[in-house]
Amino acid sequence: MKTLVKNETKPHRLRRTVQLIFLGICLFIGWRFIEFYHSCLNSAQPIAARPPGVEAFLPISALMSARYWLQTGIVHAVHPAGLLIFAAILALSFLFKKSFCSWVCPFGLLSEKLADVGRKIFRRNFSLPKWPDRLLRSIKYLLLGFFAYVISCRMSLADLEAFLESPFNQMADVRLLQFFLHPSPTTIVVLTILVILSILVRNFWCRYLCPYGALTSLAGLLSPTHIKRDIPSCIDCGKCAKVCPASLPVDRLITVYSDECSLCLECVEACPVSNTLGVSVAFTKRRVWPTMVAWSIVGIFVITLVYGKCSGHWKSSVTPQQMAQQIKELQLADPPQP
Ligand code: SF4
Ligand code: SF4
Repeated sequence: MKTLVKNETKPHRLRRTVQLIFLGICLFIGWRFIEFYHSCLNSAQPIAARPPGVEAFLPISALMSARYWLQTGIVHAVHPAGLLIFAAILALSFLFKKSFCSWVCPFGLLSEKLADVGRKIFRRNFSLPKWPDRLLRSIKYLLLGFFAYVISCRMSLADLEAFLESPFNQMADVRLLQFFLHPSPTTIVVLTILVILSILVRNFWCRYLCPYGALTSLAGLLSPTHIKRDIPSCIDCGKCAKVCPASLPVDRLITVYSDECSLCLECVEACPVSNTLGVSVAFTKRRVWPTMVAWSIVGIFVITLVYGKCSGHWKSSVTPQQMAQQIKELQLADPPQP
């Protein structure tokens, strides 16, 4: 007879702690960057420093730098931190599937919180029927495929270099900031629709639209770590499948190979029987404990930061004075709408 032993691990709290740490880092970077931006606009010399971590929000530029590095072996100097963070995200996905989405990305956390709002209002989140769901899930892969095709097949090395050196790329982070500081009516409408859809359907943005999510999903397919269910001790209660944000039938699988699994460990926490669900390493009987996942994720980003700083591939080659000059020119050429 199967005995029910309370599962004592609390991966949810652990994951939330890691998410909040990364959210805090992102907010700090955002605040420092806004300070830098205003100091460029309001004084002759920028008095605040530009935080290189802001380049984490420039995935297209990072994709271009990645191809440039693959072809030349050189880390392009305009957004070097962006490339290193991109590499860290890929490394994390090879190690722990698309855990970046559920443990690190602030938009992943925002999506979860919006879904919580939906559950409070409607007592549930809605899911799309199977075929629309599959069709919509392909959008993020199409977007990623489009960018990858243009960057790898339609641009010569000279084109790539010209783009990476261009004022447009140098100012990509400033343009992104202006996009959010002075949103156009269309931006506000699109963001409002996305918020409403994320309240109704769990992880709408991550599941259907985010090209970064597509990249982590594809890289995650090569990961050796998977959620594994121990059939002899499973009591078939179905709680794991019920809480899975990716709607995966965890209770009917032995190993979860799906590209949609973000290793969020909600199923592990929900399982009432100890050691029935867990993260396993392929071809071994080894279990990876939630704390190991958490420390590895933090470790990868700390190593990336230390490596970037020690190797000189962290700060942009564009000086703060050059950026200040370009920010003023941009402001004159394209003043924000009140
Ligand atoms: S299978 Fe488990 S770890 Fe994977 S997404 Fe679903 S709940 Fe999260
Ligand atoms: S939560 Fe899932 S794995 Fe755990 S006992 Fe229930 S059905 Fe089995």
